[in-house]
Amino acid sequence: MAQYDVIVIGAGPGGYVAAIRCAQLGLKTACVEGRETLGGTCLNVGCIPSKALLHATHQLHEAEHNFATMGLKGKSPSVDWNQMKAYKQDVVDGNTKGIEFLFKKNKIDWLKGWGSIPEAGKVKVGDEVHEAKNIIVASGSVPSSLPGLEIDNDAGVIVDSTGALDLPKVPKKMIVVGAGVIGLEMGSVYARLGAEVTVVEFLDKITPGMDGEVQKNLQKLLKKQGMNFILGAAVQGAEATKTKAKLTYKLKKDDSEHQLDADVVLVATGRRAFTDGLGLKELGVEMTERGVVKTDAHWATSVKGVYAIGDAVAGPMLAHKAEDEGMAVAEVIAGKAGHVNYDVIPGVIYTHPEVASVGKTEEQLKEEGRAYKVGKFSFMGNARAKAVFAGDGFVKLIVDKETDRVLGAHIIGPAAGDLIHEVCVTMEYGGSAEDLALTCHAHPTFSEAVREAALACGDGPIHM
Ligand code: FAD
Repeated sequence: MAQYDVIVIGAGPGGYVAAIRCAQLGLKTACVEGRETLGGTCLNVGCIPSKALLHATHQLHEAEHNFATMGLKGKSPSVDWNQMKAYKQDVVDGNTKGIEFLFKKNKIDWLKGWGSIPEAGKVKVGDEVHEAKNIIVASGSVPSSLPGLEIDNDAGVIVDSTGALDLPKVPKKMIVVGAGVIGLEMGSVYARLGAEVTVVEFLDKITPGMDGEVQKNLQKLLKKQGMNFILGAAVQGAEATKTKAKLTYKLKKDDSEHQLDADVVLVATGRRAFTDGLGLKELGVEMTERGVVKTDAHWATSVKGVYAIGDAVAGPMLAHKAEDEGMAVAEVIAGKAGHVNYDVIPGVIYTHPEVASVGKTEEQLKEEGRAYKVGKFSFMGNARAKAVFAGDGFVKLIVDKETDRVLGAHIIGPAAGDLIHEVCVTMEYGGSAEDLALTCHAHPTFSEAVREAALACGDGPIHM
């Protein structure tokens, strides 16, 4: 029987990062993974393959819409879907192999198979039982569906995000159920490939929880790119034949029933924590009714020596949130002070333009009754953005009215997912809009728009 200081269950961004940090801190570590490859949802069927497809199809969009304007003339590229999927798989393989290399480098044992916890201090993988002083549950999440929508990724007609990343062919018509991040990203991929994409959403807005102005702008820009939206619609169910589906929904405003046809229905209605088969209930680990593991502020569950992180616990289902918790829990186990600042976790949508946000929205601050100021700057005033056809969108900085301290930022525009981080760093240090405005920003960069938004919180921006 092998003995470890730590066994991590699950090798997604939460689990593999926790394992690496534990090993770096001198703890004898193993990581259990049931998939054929390391990296979890994120590397195998999430962040990475979706970004590869978004990248490829964005190049196509540029070729079709902007090349001729720049004097790049000639035949527009045609799409070889199988080759695009092969490129995506290469990207995935490179990344998952990279984690395997990091495991070897850090002397982490990969225990291959599905793990369970028969009793505290023990992890069973196949027929073998391993001993561990500490166990970290990082078992992640799986797609969740709606009643009446039966997912069958092999049939390829009613699919979840995993099926949508690997469709046998590009559909002519696609329905996306759910206007959240995953639905809009995958919808963008297929819209750029020529599919007629209709997004059906229960709420009256897309991307629930985001800044209202950003929501409206993103919807307008995606509409301009050919995506249709049916909002305020309660999906009743879908019937599938071998090659087609018929979706039924009711409009909430008048209860009228409607039907839509499509070649593919992508169900992107969220994800649920995946804690099945671990034996947590039998062990006495407290969980919610939906299988989310309950932890204290140091990721400890109700059973001594068992911790949990990532999508399996509460909070935003994001890879970087899982990674941060992975590092922090390793530090806690090693007797150090692991910490995650949940107030500064950015969220990004990798559509075109990108959307990124961190901290408070105006809507939240109004509800809290807190006095705030807004500094806004349009990418139309940013020379670099205009040069690359990316003038749509803006940076919106929200600061405390009295102290000028940055409370949040909402960006829609070029490289928003990267720009957001200078605001994150400012917030981590308790900085103000003035701090951002006084920092020299290189010209011509998109990041000048962040500085201009900061200037807009004070005496005003220069280029507007
Ligand atoms: P997971 O990545 O789900 O990993 C858990 C692992 O545990 C899995 O590999 C599973 O096989 C394994 N496992 C579970 N139970 C056991 C067991 N009993 N024994 C052994 N192994 C087990 N997030 C972002 O931040 N940015 C993005 O751009 C982004 N894009 C996404 C796009 C899509 C299409 C999807 C589906 C998700 C996306 N996400 C994104 C979310 C992100 O993938 C998750 O938040 C992240 O993977 C969670 O990490 P985790 O380590 O908690 O769990």
